[in-house]
Amino acid sequence: MTQLPTNFHILIAGGGISGLALALFLKKAGISCSVYEAYTYRASAGGGFNIAPNGMNVLNTLGLAQKIIDAGAIAEEFCMRNGKGKVIGHIQNGSPEKYGQPGVSLSRAALYDILLEEIHAQGLKIQYEKRLCDIRQDEQGVTAVFADGSQAVGDILIGADGVHSATRQLLFPEGPTPAFTGMKNYGGFTPLSAVPQLTTREINSLNFTFGNNGFFGYCAAGNDMAMWWSNLPSDEPFTKAELESTTLEDVKATMLERYHDYHAPVAALITNTEKVLKVNVSDIASLPTWHKDRVLLIGDAAHAVSPNAGQGASMALEDAMYLAMLLRDAGVGSYAAAFRKFENDRKPRVEKIVAEGRRRGATKTILKPWQAKIREWLMALLIPLFAAKNADWLYKYRLDWKMKY
Ligand SMILES: Cc1cc2nc3c(=O)[nH]c(=O)nc-3n(C[C@H](O)[C@H](O)[C@H](O)COP(=O)(O)OP(=O)(O)OC[C@H]3O[C@@H](n4cnc5c(N)ncnc54)[C@H](O)[C@@H]3O)c2cc1C
Repeated sequence: MTQLPTNFHILIAGGGISGLALALFLKKAGISCSVYEAYTYRASAGGGFNIAPNGMNVLNTLGLAQKIIDAGAIAEEFCMRNGKGKVIGHIQNGSPEKYGQPGVSLSRAALYDILLEEIHAQGLKIQYEKRLCDIRQDEQGVTAVFADGSQAVGDILIGADGVHSATRQLLFPEGPTPAFTGMKNYGGFTPLSAVPQLTTREINSLNFTFGNNGFFGYCAAGNDMAMWWSNLPSDEPFTKAELESTTLEDVKATMLERYHDYHAPVAALITNTEKVLKVNVSDIASLPTWHKDRVLLIGDAAHAVSPNAGQGASMALEDAMYLAMLLRDAGVGSYAAAFRKFENDRKPRVEKIVAEGRRRGATKTILKPWQAKIREWLMALLIPLFAAKNADWLYKYRLDWKMKY
């Protein structure tokens, strides 16, 4: 093994949400680290999402919550409609009074800009075009080997490399692999000025339309943009060729055909789309363990949550903060104890959320009109009964940087 750095040093594979947040929390804890990202910055930043109040509380600990709010759009409630636009029910999406922070929708690129600005302000660096392809570890430390032939050495390695994690495959070659959930996803960004029909309520909400032809979601995303997303049930995922060859105009035509009889402003959102994202939605069965010797998985690498849960980014943020606190409090020499405690404490929460994501995904399929009517009736009945309780266990979870763990 090449000479280890003098101080305890952590290698982070993946410069996505969990990797960047972990680097910032480790810096706050006074622990040295380096981040290695497979892509160049822009190549890895597409799409957008809603960061739930529990994730916003983590960003607030980094002093970034207000920047996120300024770059995005606060979503005060979830508003469920049927295909004709009739409101079926609504759920509060995190009141700042109750949960500390609001839920905020924004583009992934805007979130990365904010995290990276802070990374640079803290004197941290990301090494781009470093695709992890092998890991070697012994009593002295761990070596990460990258596809360009270069290597890095450290005391421990954190695999923050997302749902298709190379770290996971290298650690557990016989373990579960990500599975296609039966949902393909198209999403897009549309200028707000092109959808003047959007009401104030829609601009302040996450809007979920459950019609006969499946689910369509839309919201404001900050920067004078709206974003929309759609689940397409399918036996087969998009092929690589389909992902590469389908044009913006192809996506618009498919979406307009599918949602031709949905309420306004669905057609206007689709017609005026400027940027589109295509993705196969995958998740992964529970891993027997998240760590092996000097290597630990966090974020989607450990527990890919389907987008239907609306919690993947928040879970990645919670993971990053909690791990940094455990390493800080255990003392870096006791990383093995910190890894065990991390897995023990985080697993029940994230696995409950993975299950919730699957349950929500199942409600977004295409139904016969009579089935859709029953779904609508059930939603109208159940939302007032269970929605607030459901939001509480997700959003009330709070990590306190000042606490010892
Ligand atoms: C369509 C869609 C919509 C979503 N909507 C929401 C939402 O509304 N709310 C929400 O909370 N979550 C949402 N999610 C989930 C959320 O995006 C993920 O849970 C979150 O990004 C996980 O963060 P992460 O850091 O674990 O992984 P990622 O953000 O995926 O980051 C992993 C990083 O590792 C890099 N990498 C990969 N392989 C290697 C390698 N071999 N070597 C080095 N680097 C590597 C990748 O390029 C990437 O930058 C959505 C996901 C999708 C696909």
